Amino acid sequence: MSTLTKFDEFGFAAPILRALTAVGYTNPTPIQAKAIPAILAGRDLLGIAQTGTGKTAAFALPILHLLAQQPRQAPRGGCRVLVLSPTRELASQIADSFRAFGQRLGVRVAVVFGGVSHGPQLKALAGGVDVLVATPGRLIDHIGSRAALLGTAEFLVLDEVDQMLDLGFIKPLRRIVGQLPKQRQNLFFSATMPKEIGNLAGELLNDPVSVSVAPAATTAERVRQQVLLVDASNKRDTLIGLFADEAMERTIVFTRTKHGADKVARHLDGAGIAAAAIHGNKSQSQRERSLAAFRAGRVRALVATDIAARGIDIAGVTHVVNFELPEVAENYVHRIGRTARAGAEGTAISLCDGGERDLLRNIERVARLRIETIDRRTHTALAGKPDVRPANERKVDRAAGTGENAMPRLAFMTPRRPALPAKASRPDGQRLDRKAAGR
Ligand code: AMP
Repeated sequence: MSTLTKFDEFGFAAPILRALTAVGYTNPTPIQAKAIPAILAGRDLLGIAQTGTGKTAAFALPILHLLAQQPRQAPRGGCRVLVLSPTRELASQIADSFRAFGQRLGVRVAVVFGGVSHGPQLKALAGGVDVLVATPGRLIDHIGSRAALLGTAEFLVLDEVDQMLDLGFIKPLRRIVGQLPKQRQNLFFSATMPKEIGNLAGELLNDPVSVSVAPAATTAERVRQQVLLVDASNKRDTLIGLFADEAMERTIVFTRTKHGADKVARHLDGAGIAAAAIHGNKSQSQRERSLAAFRAGRVRALVATDIAARGIDIAGVTHVVNFELPEVAENYVHRIGRTARAGAEGTAISLCDGGERDLLRNIERVARLRIETIDRRTHTALAGKPDVRPANERKVDRAAGTGENAMPRLAFMTPRRPALPAKASRPDGQRLDRKAAGR
């Protein structure tokens, strides 16, 4: 298949090209260059790609073009396109993309997911929509109450299939697929392709075109990675110490549990580092508020569990910190992929205690990585002596990276600078130029 390099070479309808100009896309990403011609040709697609590669536009743009070529009104409760996504955040983002690209085509988009009331979703579905984006569990509810009728769907998109299976959605997924007409175009995306997922793809797809971009190791290679060996009891102070690096402007901190996320966020806040936690126990509006604050730079640290963070697309994440290593090695790759998006640089720092050494070895094996490891426990300045000074003094010292709990300079850190009052602009009004600072 030839690879196209400009959006105007795909033959998209004019309203789609105008929408692309409006969102500022000029050149297709590799997955777009490969997937769009195949989808426009009516083929099923098997895409191995992570979030961050531009896969949403890779399916949304050609689908919108094909819908526009054959305008048709979906029946009451029906849709023309069904997109299934593992998480509500990803579902919302996909729906937003369809709306943005399809604005000038007048497409009707509805999104349904759990954790919010049924009423508005029922209303959105009632008149029939062009594109329905859903998480599997809530869609099953709507199918059960006959609010969603899938018999007229022309396209099925399964996004982040590996994550859907991890979340136990295989049964709902099969039930949903059973409601769809046999004659349809199927697009299947997964970041990883273990045997189980390959089998499911084989079952659902009809002679698919396979496209694969940025295999896990390649994405991971763009991220500067480091492991700090620490004692479990020292993890929290080590984390605070990391934030002495001013380059940590927008950091996602991963914890293994929801409870752990709350605790770490409280601890960061207590040390004067604005933080918010997102996980499955937070309401949708709390999650949205936290994400908005993080995007806007009002909080420096977003503390998240793996599931909560999947599919979240935030530009400019400078650092990922694994407060705990993930149990599932592939999640390491997903986590560090939150930074270094769209070709940018990024840094991932993992705190590994004695009980996590096996997890680390497994990650290195699965992701085919050798991660630089620093043994923090042998660093005398960080021996974890109790700090008996008042909390306010400790905070200043830590933020400035000077007190006895300060971090040693790591390879990727910016040179240490004199302490500045929180939020104050530089006296000389200049921003730190990372390149000049040797980053
Ligand atoms: P995705 O992998 O679909 O989550 O997309 C990752 C990010 O890349 C999103 O912020 C998109 O808006 C952005 N993006 C996707 N395609 C392009 C493109 N062709 N040019 C510039 N940015 C893009």
